[in-house]
Amino acid sequence: VPELPEVEIAARNLRAWAEGKAVRAVIVHDPRVVEAPAAEAFVRALKGRRIEAIDRRGKWLRLRLDDGSRVFSHLGMTGKWVRRAPEAEPEPFERARVDLRDPDGDERGAVSLRYRDPRLFGRLHHARDDLAAFTALGPDPLVDGIDVARLHDRLARTRRAIKDALLDQAILAGVGNIQATEALWLARVDPRRPADQLARAEVRAIARGLERSIEQTLAHESGPEITYVEEAGAPNPFTIYGHGGDPCPRCRAPLDRYVLGGRGTVSCPRCQPTAGRPGRERREKGSSRTQRRP
Ligand SMILES: [Zn+2]
Repeated sequence: VPELPEVEIAARNLRAWAEGKAVRAVIVHDPRVVEAPAAEAFVRALKGRRIEAIDRRGKWLRLRLDDGSRVFSHLGMTGKWVRRAPEAEPEPFERARVDLRDPDGDERGAVSLRYRDPRLFGRLHHARDDLAAFTALGPDPLVDGIDVARLHDRLARTRRAIKDALLDQAILAGVGNIQATEALWLARVDPRRPADQLARAEVRAIARGLERSIEQTLAHESGPEITYVEEAGAPNPFTIYGHGGDPCPRCRAPLDRYVLGGRGTVSCPRCQPTAGRPGRERREKGSSRTQRRP
């Protein structure tokens, strides 16, 4: 499932393949992939336009066109953009294709971007302005960086388990199940701890854990095509995600696997203690919010 690093790689690839090029043709093989407008209007809106810039926020890709309008692409569970020669056969599960040429018409610059999505949870969207789902996103760890004080304040306002809170796209954009699991292990914080009980030092450790985990995944997965862990035969590059029952790489205790907030979760019973570390301050400033008890 694409999380921030996979979508970041998709953004980098699309930037290299498509930025500055003009849209020669768009073919929608499966109209369900275009959320809005209708598929025919989507094709018309893109045709002849130049792609000026491509960026990413959270799990969203945004292509800015030369008329100021935008194309949004969300990869859902299994979506992928790949580059092919214009004459190449359709990919398995190809839902749409965008053929590009150099603005000066040089045929050597012609490429065909194919959007492939077996499970079809991904979406394409053309709009005059930013989508509400895009503007509602919280800070992106890579684009904006993580402000520890601000994250701590935000987490202090929810009693949800810390892992569930990290998956809330309004708190941090782009963090998914894998990155949250890895970061909490790096930070030695149990995923089930209530978010409002974390000390500033623990929030800082989680922020550093996310940055490190995202960097490691980017370094491992960078390439012309993203591989998702769930794909048959794909190696698992993660430290503890998908390793329930295996020994903890840090302390050798068998890793626990359980469901939290409906998602498979892995943590170490020894180095991610459920109660946090004894004697730790609960909050650095103010006491009113810690008084809240059922
Ligand atoms: Zn451990």
